[in-house]
Amino acid sequence: MATAAFAGVRFVPTAHASYSHNGWDQKHIATIHDNNGPAGGGSGPGTYDEEYCVMSETSAMPVSTIGPFIQQTLTQLSFDIVWDGSADWRVDLWRAPKACNEYSTADRNNIEIEYRIRETWASVCGGDIYACVTSVSPITDATRAHQHYKYMNVHLKREQLAALATTHRARKFINHETGHVLGLRDPVSGAECMYSVMTNDLYAHLGCTATVWHPTTSDFVSVRSIANRAN
Ligand SMILES: [Zn+2]
Ligand SMILES: [Zn+2]
Repeated sequence: MATAAFAGVRFVPTAHASYSHNGWDQKHIATIHDNNGPAGGGSGPGTYDEEYCVMSETSAMPVSTIGPFIQQTLTQLSFDIVWDGSADWRVDLWRAPKACNEYSTADRNNIEIEYRIRETWASVCGGDIYACVTSVSPITDATRAHQHYKYMNVHLKREQLAALATTHRARKFINHETGHVLGLRDPVSGAECMYSVMTNDLYAHLGCTATVWHPTTSDFVSVRSIANRAN
């Protein structure tokens, strides 16, 4: 769970930026440009925050196990390696207390991001080996002159998240896919390999060798520029 809205300021030096979607159609969560708190005050997700839920459709990895692990990965590790708090808390991630599929449709529609676990997402992600993010319900932001998305859904395979306690592999997948939610894209060639959770050794076939499993300075710089983007 996120801490108070402006509790942390991450030092972000100039660095090579990771690659992002740009132009008219920008695949990022629509709430990334702003931050606020609950209308009534107090602690909780505001309308510009990113609320997420977790659900599992495989009995081999129940939500009671993977839900807290995803939450820890996104918000509860050292501040310099978690997505939560990025771009001066314009990325403010709050876990919904129930599994996504335990909510009514109306309540579920208030949650911006879903983490979904299955044995395979071949039918959604284009092949059995892949995890992926889908962007749903495009919104035109006339002020910022681009289109972004009301909902982003992260599809992760159980196998990618196995061995939770013993390796950083599961966190590598969770953080990479969350990078997509925030507007970062995959490398298209080896020339784009850098020290980034988006261009790490998940792209060994392109020649990328970084083993990093968490967002890096390059990633934070890019997410800040996406949050600032007005084109
Ligand atoms: Zn946008
Ligand atoms: Zn990717």
